[in-house]
Amino acid sequence: MANPVALEITESHEALVGEVTVRRALPRHDRRTIGAWCFADHMGPVAVTEERGLDIGPHPHTGLQTVTWLLEGEELHRDSLGTEQLIQPGQLNLMTAGNGVAHAEEATGRYQGSLQGIQLWIAQPEATRHGPAAFEHHRELPQVDLGIGEATVLVGSYAGATSPARHDTELVGVDLSVQGSTTLELEPSFEYGLVVLVGAVELGGGRLTPGHLGYLAPGRAELGLLADGGTRALLLGGPPFDEKIMMWWNFVARSRLEFEEAARSWETDDGRFGQVGSTLARLASPPLQGEHPQRGAS
Ligand code: MN
Repeated sequence: MANPVALEITESHEALVGEVTVRRALPRHDRRTIGAWCFADHMGPVAVTEERGLDIGPHPHTGLQTVTWLLEGEELHRDSLGTEQLIQPGQLNLMTAGNGVAHAEEATGRYQGSLQGIQLWIAQPEATRHGPAAFEHHRELPQVDLGIGEATVLVGSYAGATSPARHDTELVGVDLSVQGSTTLELEPSFEYGLVVLVGAVELGGGRLTPGHLGYLAPGRAELGLLADGGTRALLLGGPPFDEKIMMWWNFVARSRLEFEEAARSWETDDGRFGQVGSTLARLASPPLQGEHPQRGAS
């Protein structure tokens, strides 16, 4: 394109989820969403044992979908819908919170080795955010041959391939496993974020490595990139989300009152979030003092 929009690179900040340090690419002070994507935690690689893994005890969510995608290792997902689902690399867990759901993420009791992955949240629009909770597991996802590697379509459509995963707004999420130089096709009405998990990518006049977010405003039809080091990266995109969201702890909402109600429901266990069949301890909500999306989110 004659005058392509510039790539913005920001540094992720470190946070602690369970006992695992993550690199949080989203949200940021100046960049809350990319499309409806509102949270991106790159976790690991971290060594786990049969008994000890991510081990995040039962906690609630509202108004968002969680996307779990692993590069290495495995995890056991349990939720208040009664789901018990093992997840391994190449598979997608997609949990829809709607009005409320609770889940835990545990060691599987058999895996020993390295654990690495990304957990993403998608803000639900007004039309579905008060609706029922749901869970999907996709064992196989469509792949596109990029010549220098593959694109796996987690959510939405990319280069003619469409993921079966539910999405409530127009959205795309693609795992890139690439080595070399290529041009990615983009949808000009979408804004995009790129999170490098392994390796490095040179693009748009910058170099992206793990621990950074690359952001592109709408207006590009394509993006040339050079990947080295056996790159794995997530390309996230969508039309700018047009609802003003608020995030606190594990909730996406529209007002402080909604946070207070959700926290009270969780603390009093009034049935809104249901029960999770986990032996891990239930997580307590932090005090509600302003909006601290980064604090304690899991
Ligand atoms: Mn969670």
